[in-house]
Amino acid sequence: MFYGVNAVILSILFRQNYRRKHKLGIEIEGLQEKINLAVNEHSRELKNQSAVEKKILLYKSLKDILEKINRTLDLNSISEILTEAAFTLIANNKGSCVLYLVDNQTYKLGLFKTKKEDKNLIIKAKEGDIFDLWVLRHASPLLIEDIRKDFRFDPEKFRDEGERFVSSVISAPLISDHKFLGILRLDNPTAGFYQQHDLRFLVTICDLVAVALENSELFVKTENLAIHDSLTSLYTRGYFLERLREELKRSARQNKPFSLLMLDIDYFKKYNDKFGHTAGDEVLRSLSRNLCEYLKDLSPIISRFGGEEFCIAIPHMDKKEAYDLSQNLCASVEKTKVILRRQETGITVSIGIAAFPHDATDIDDLITKADRAMYEAKKKGRNRPIAA
Ligand code: GH3
Ligand code: MG
Ligand code: MG
Repeated sequence: MFYGVNAVILSILFRQNYRRKHKLGIEIEGLQEKINLAVNEHSRELKNQSAVEKKILLYKSLKDILEKINRTLDLNSISEILTEAAFTLIANNKGSCVLYLVDNQTYKLGLFKTKKEDKNLIIKAKEGDIFDLWVLRHASPLLIEDIRKDFRFDPEKFRDEGERFVSSVISAPLISDHKFLGILRLDNPTAGFYQQHDLRFLVTICDLVAVALENSELFVKTENLAIHDSLTSLYTRGYFLERLREELKRSARQNKPFSLLMLDIDYFKKYNDKFGHTAGDEVLRSLSRNLCEYLKDLSPIISRFGGEEFCIAIPHMDKKEAYDLSQNLCASVEKTKVILRRQETGITVSIGIAAFPHDATDIDDLITKADRAMYEAKKKGRNRPIAA
């Protein structure tokens, strides 16, 4: 009887214990599940936090790029900032980064700046390869994870690149106000090096910089307009005087002479009256080309000084040499014919010469003396040089 009661009590206790254990097991499982969820959430948060931090860093870099670019109008400096930013921030200084700019005349791509992990690497595709031409044709960004698996491109066509091994590429066009200015491209020998977010960042940089690039091109154009005469492309009077001042200082420093030639077309008014103003313009252009060709080995500074008047400085040339040269020049101009409506026409020129330091040691004096000598040549019958 005693044993029976004990057995019943023990069995009850055992069952109660079993139930508690079971309940605890379930609770432990629940808690473990909660722990797992919390761990997952924590790691997700960590990832998110590092992604946010990365994004903040990238956008801070964008702000830096913009600030740097806003400080300059120089094409070279802008290109340097652009390639440096893309190569360090996106490519982590691996592989290569190439900037191509579009030539305004030929509309072809031209290699302008590179950044390379391997400094000895030579980029042979000076006018771009099939990928760059694709971006130029489509005017849209390009991501290639693995060149050999991308159905858009024929790998055979890329083989002749030779030593430059490329597997992945991202490339973005530089477009400002619908004008295609160039391409910025990053490539790497490892497949899958670039992802969609890299391309997005490259596109963002290119969009920001394209405007600055166009402004700098406009600036160069405007500067060119101030330096070069629009009809003859020779230097303008203002720019010539600047260069002349420099030349005078240099010659004085080196104790060397230089000569100034003032050249004026004879009876040009009559030529215009007879053949028309457009024909006269063509003569001015043709004479300018001939002057450049004739003097090309003498490092001359040639300007269109006024309407049909040209002023030329020739470094390291004394007065006697300048006189001999001018005699030959007059003869050469006289011999050169301009064909107008199948008719041979021609001009002659008168040249006044003054030399530094023989005739004058400052610019104004030198010009006055050369000018006077030129009028002397006119008086003496034209088509000749006269030295001051
Ligand atoms: P001279 O031998 O005394 O120098 O006589 P000239 O007729 O050349 O001199 P003048 O100073 O009387 O006339 C200069 C002419 O040059 C007048 C003008 O029509 C012409 N001229 C000046 N600039 C241009 C230009 O851009 N195009 C053309 N076609 N003619 C020009
Ligand atoms: Mg004249
Ligand atoms: Mg004149």
